[in-house]
Amino acid sequence: MSEHDGQRLLKRILAGLDESAGPLTHVELTPARAEHHAEWPSFAAEEVVDALRASGMRAPWTHQARAAELAWSGRHVVVSTGTASGKSACYLLPVLTALTEGKRDTALYLAPTKALGSDQVRSVGELGLSAVRAATVDGDTPLGERDWAAAHANWLFTNPDMLHFSLLPRHERWARFFRNLRFVVIDECHAYRGLFGSHVALLIRRLRRIAARYGADPVFLLASATAAEPGRSASALTGLEVTEVTEDGSPRGARTVALWEPPLESETGEHGAPVRRQAGAEAARVLADLVIEGARTLAFVRSRHGAELTALGAKRILGEVDNRLAGKIAAYRGGYLAEDRRGLESALDSGSLLGVATTNALELGIDIAGLDAVLVAGYPGTLASFWQQAGRAGRAGEDEPLVVFIARDDPLDTYLVHHPEAIFDRPVESTVLDPANPYVLGPHLACATAELPLTRAGLAEFGGAETAEPLLTELTEQKVVRARPHGWFWSSRDRPHGTVDLRGSGGGQIAVVEGDTGRLLGTVDAGSAPNSVHEGAVHLHQGESFVVDSLDLDEGIALVHAERPDWITTPREVVDIRVLETLVRQDHGGGVTSCLGSVEVTSQVIGYLRKLPSGKVLNQVPLDLPEQVLRTRAVWYTIGEDLLRNNAPGGAGLDPARIPGALHAAEHAAIGLLPLFATCDRWDIGGVSTALHADTGEATVFVHDGHPGGAGFADRGFAALVPWLATTRKAISACECPAGCPSCVQSPKCGNGNEPLDKQGAMAVLGAVLPVLRSGVT
Ligand SMILES: [Zn+2]
Ligand SMILES: [Zn+2]
Repeated sequence: MSEHDGQRLLKRILAGLDESAGPLTHVELTPARAEHHAEWPSFAAEEVVDALRASGMRAPWTHQARAAELAWSGRHVVVSTGTASGKSACYLLPVLTALTEGKRDTALYLAPTKALGSDQVRSVGELGLSAVRAATVDGDTPLGERDWAAAHANWLFTNPDMLHFSLLPRHERWARFFRNLRFVVIDECHAYRGLFGSHVALLIRRLRRIAARYGADPVFLLASATAAEPGRSASALTGLEVTEVTEDGSPRGARTVALWEPPLESETGEHGAPVRRQAGAEAARVLADLVIEGARTLAFVRSRHGAELTALGAKRILGEVDNRLAGKIAAYRGGYLAEDRRGLESALDSGSLLGVATTNALELGIDIAGLDAVLVAGYPGTLASFWQQAGRAGRAGEDEPLVVFIARDDPLDTYLVHHPEAIFDRPVESTVLDPANPYVLGPHLACATAELPLTRAGLAEFGGAETAEPLLTELTEQKVVRARPHGWFWSSRDRPHGTVDLRGSGGGQIAVVEGDTGRLLGTVDAGSAPNSVHEGAVHLHQGESFVVDSLDLDEGIALVHAERPDWITTPREVVDIRVLETLVRQDHGGGVTSCLGSVEVTSQVIGYLRKLPSGKVLNQVPLDLPEQVLRTRAVWYTIGEDLLRNNAPGGAGLDPARIPGALHAAEHAAIGLLPLFATCDRWDIGGVSTALHADTGEATVFVHDGHPGGAGFADRGFAALVPWLATTRKAISACECPAGCPSCVQSPKCGNGNEPLDKQGAMAVLGAVLPVLRSGVT
């Protein structure tokens, strides 16, 4: 057994902790996997094979050869395999061969982040193939280099933003490139999900249209982290039939994975609820222990501020033991700059650093292999991300490393540490996106007409005439486009591209500005501004704390000053929901219906609470802010009064006074657990529950998408209603608290100050609803 064996490390960090009330909820040894090699594909150019050999690749693994051969034969292909499985070789083999032999052929590489793109262009450069003229085109590329790229480059490395703002609207300038476009590589394509994914899906349709205009029909090569149904997701993203390659031929070492629930603190939180030690503080303690053992460790923390606090906490603990050890801890705060990451990689490699706390910025495109341990403090939102982070530990065939997942005090994390099968036996989730969302599709139709007139036949690419025509009619009425017998034409001089925010909510942005200095700190979505940057709000920005002095929604500006008060703030809000259209309604008999449809959510922030970080409320401050209106998609279920009040077996047996608290608690927990079924964050969705809703005439629980038009989350919730609510009930019942806490039914984003909440009532409601849902549709 080696020195940094995971089991041994785990014993050391558990030493001295109380066994019976210990934080460990589960330990799993994930097995090793042997490697499978294939021959070099026969199509591959000799010099390409030589260059890859010289870079250290002995022979392709089976998945690399298969994906490369499919792409070379003209099939669109997605390879979906684990971390460090050499996904880049899948596209390097066909693309480099085409560029070497094809004389005029060109290729496009798309990455979700700039950092990843510049890493890839560097490694392609290092192969030293003279026929390959690779160039980065992103926001930082000087004009001269762009000119060179337009005239000469045969491989462009860019990102969706640049494709949208520059390459497509100015396609004439890139005519040579588009005419010869043979391959499009979409790297880390699982990053394109939700609203951002819907935008990118439409962007890719626009790209294909421009390529077709110049006579090109490129083959798409996608690389994804391990995901369920990668072929289906890749098809949704590209609008093409995509073949999936999922059999991973790369080797993997065994790993010890421990699930960890931080202990309860002596202090209590909101409404006297028990609170657990924060995941970041717990990670600091574990990180310090691992560094004392000499284990090279990466700790993933959800926020940048959190990563800094974790590093600071670990340094403080180590400072009491040995100051030299404290110097071996760092927070990774270098943003996405390639040089910063290089420095970090070499410091970890040489041992001058032993422990690094980071956000998920280091999840992608970093060359750190063979770490002894990885801490994941807080579920990163998807299993794909979780395994990607865990995959930073260990090198095949060597030490068996340790991975520790530390739960945050919320329903999802708590559920996961108590249900290991949801981590180890569950397929990785497929990505959700919805290119038919009218709030996303409309602006892209405008961009498309500005790039090239849009014909009626061309609508097939944009959701078909039924979906696209009403939006074009609207754009015509707004005089954005002109309708002509042959199709639609752009009718203004300004391009519409600047008004489309690929990564935002689509509702505009509010600038956050430091009052004294005029420094722009960043932006927040206009829709969420009343919640996040109202007057008096404590606003965190890259580890610095600010207090908001004023919010002007009309001017689109929030003025702040630097201040670090002892409290945090949470907005209080009144929310109303109206059903606009019920798209699907299922009557399950027994007094339960489930529905999917479009809704209008009206919300108004009426004040905020000042709270201690533990959740204890200090006071409430009123605010006067306008109403916000959000039109989006929702899933909801209704429960008849008989079922709610019936004391007989099968009924919820609730006194009328308890019904609002029971529904509210069931709504909170359901929002907390939906991310298990849809690839969303709990902050991407919202909910409303009411004992009597005007539109349904019954007790109703709504869960809705948080963005205009929705991003597919409510749809996914509707499709998975039974497992989702069953999991919600299990999560609540597993929580040991007496009357509700952040691990089960309290929510940090509740606009109602977590009142009323009835934990037992929620169990009763779900316990009555689930058997009816399971019995089917009548
Ligand atoms: Zn609880
Ligand atoms: Zn609430």
